Order: sequence, then structure tokens, then C-alpha cells
Amino acid sequence: MPGPSVQPAATGYRGRFAPSPTGPLHLGSLLAAFGGWLLARHAGGEWLVRIEDIDPPREVPGAAAAQLAALAAFGLAGDRPPAWQSRRHALYRAALDRLLAAGHAFACSCSRSALAAQGGIHRRCVAGVPRPHPAIRLRVADGATVAFEDGLQGTVGQDVAAEVGDFVLLRADGCWAYQLAVVVDDADQGITDVVRGADLLDSTPRQILLQRALGLPVPRYLHLPLLLDEDGHKLSKSSAAPPLDPADPLPALRACWSLLGQDPAHVRGCGDVDALLRQARARFDPALLPARLHFRRGDTTTA
Ligand code: GLU
Repeated sequence: MPGPSVQPAATGYRGRFAPSPTGPLHLGSLLAAFGGWLLARHAGGEWLVRIEDIDPPREVPGAAAAQLAALAAFGLAGDRPPAWQSRRHALYRAALDRLLAAGHAFACSCSRSALAAQGGIHRRCVAGVPRPHPAIRLRVADGATVAFEDGLQGTVGQDVAAEVGDFVLLRADGCWAYQLAVVVDDADQGITDVVRGADLLDSTPRQILLQRALGLPVPRYLHLPLLLDEDGHKLSKSSAAPPLDPADPLPALRACWSLLGQDPAHVRGCGDVDALLRQARARFDPALLPARLHFRRGDTTTA
């Protein structure tokens, strides 16, 4: 694969925030965006926004525009115009063709029910009849275990063959799988540091296997803690998730600042978004980032 089409910043750090347009930005996504932005600024690097709109069945009309508008209202627009995955099919196709040509990927006609009978883990094709439009999967060798050092969560390891199996790169409905698109884009955009929510922690070993198969550099990964409610549910899926109000950005920014382990006093007196972000940038200490956190009702109003 050719080198990145966008060269990294002079400091060598480039991060990104990559929302899927499946709904409005919520407090959990703002936490990931703000945390990623702060880490990029702290490193003197760049921070990009990429809209991951390659799954039309899950896309909510207008959500991408609303997410971009909300990010702008929170002062977190990317340093370059946003990238749109829906305009990058040719890159994913080229990567898939390379994997197929090298024997790393294969067409698979297994049905969901056949896979369910094997615990949902694909180790060999069991389909009797090939489908006209098969899925394409990555071949994961027996015993393929990936370990990496997460910037916040420590050493993470996964036996991808046993726990995930051969995973999908191109779905039977013709949509690109997230795992392929994200790996191709992170490399093409020269992303050096992936900062995102810990719900994606168990996707990272798959992404590293793909990077190895494609001969791409492996970025550093840092997974921020998920916001959980008092019952341990992901906050975005629970009724306690307070909707974000882009017209009144300061309370949510202050709440995220505190949730990121930073001293609320540093941003208490800031009267507008620019002042708050300037202060946050100057005072941010990555050593204070918590690996886990629990949301308490009222956190968005923390002053
Ligand atoms: N688009 C993914 C999501 O919204 C995130 C991708 C990533 O950060 O790697 O869950």
C-alpha cells in the first residue's frame, strides 16, 4: 500500500475522532472527542474528524450534519475538513483485493444460523451452496493471539482465533465492515494515535491483525473509560444519559473535564467555549486520566 496520503504533523502526533452517524452526539461521545482532542493538543499534534458513514442500514438521516454542528459548538472541529468514509470505497476495495490476492481473505457463504450453531465463531466454511454475493472474511490462523499495550488500560491480549474467529471484511449485503475501513483510513490518514471509548477495546486485536496482513503501521491505542450508569450499563444506552445541548456547551464540557480526572477548579471561571478550551489545553494532565469511571446523576452540572 502506498504511504499515507496525509503526512503527520511536525510533532509526529495525529489523532482522530470517528463517529458513526447513528444518532446525536451524547455525553459518552463528547468525552471521547474531548479526551482525544486534549491528548492531541498536549502532544502538539493534529486532530481530525472522520464520519464513518459506511453502514446505510444503521445511519440516521441528518445525524452526521448534527454531529459536526455539535462538535463545532463544543469547539472541537477537526484541524482539516472532515473525511467521509462513504467517499473512500476505492481505498477499501484496493485493500480487500490485496488481501484476497495474498490468500489472507476468502469468500464465505455461511449463514447466520450455521454460524450460530458454532457459537458464532467462524473457523471453517460450513455452507453447502455458495451464495451469489458471499461475505469476505479475514483468515485468522489457529492460535493467532494479539497483545498490545494500551495507553490507559495496560496490556490487552486476545486469542482472536478462539474468541472471534475469521472476521468479516465485506458483508454479504455489500457493505464494508468497520474493521477494514477503520484500519485502511487510520493508515491512509497517517493517524499515529487512536483515542476512543473502551467499547472498542476488543476490536483492536482484529485491527492489529489486519494491519499486519496489509503491512501497515500499528498506531498507539488509548481507550478512554466508558461512562457507566449506577447499574453498570453503558450510559448512552440508558435513560440517565443526559442529552447534549449544543446551544449551552459549557456544562457538558465541564462535566467531561471532570470525568477525565482533571481538576474542576481549572475551568470553573471560564465564561465561553474558547476560554474553557484554552484553559483546558494549558492545564490538562494525561497522568490524571482514569481507566474506569462511574457516572453519577448530576455530573453534567458539576461546575
Ligand atoms: N465509528 C466508531 C463508533 O462510532 C468508532 C470508530 C473508532 O473510533 O475506531 O463507534
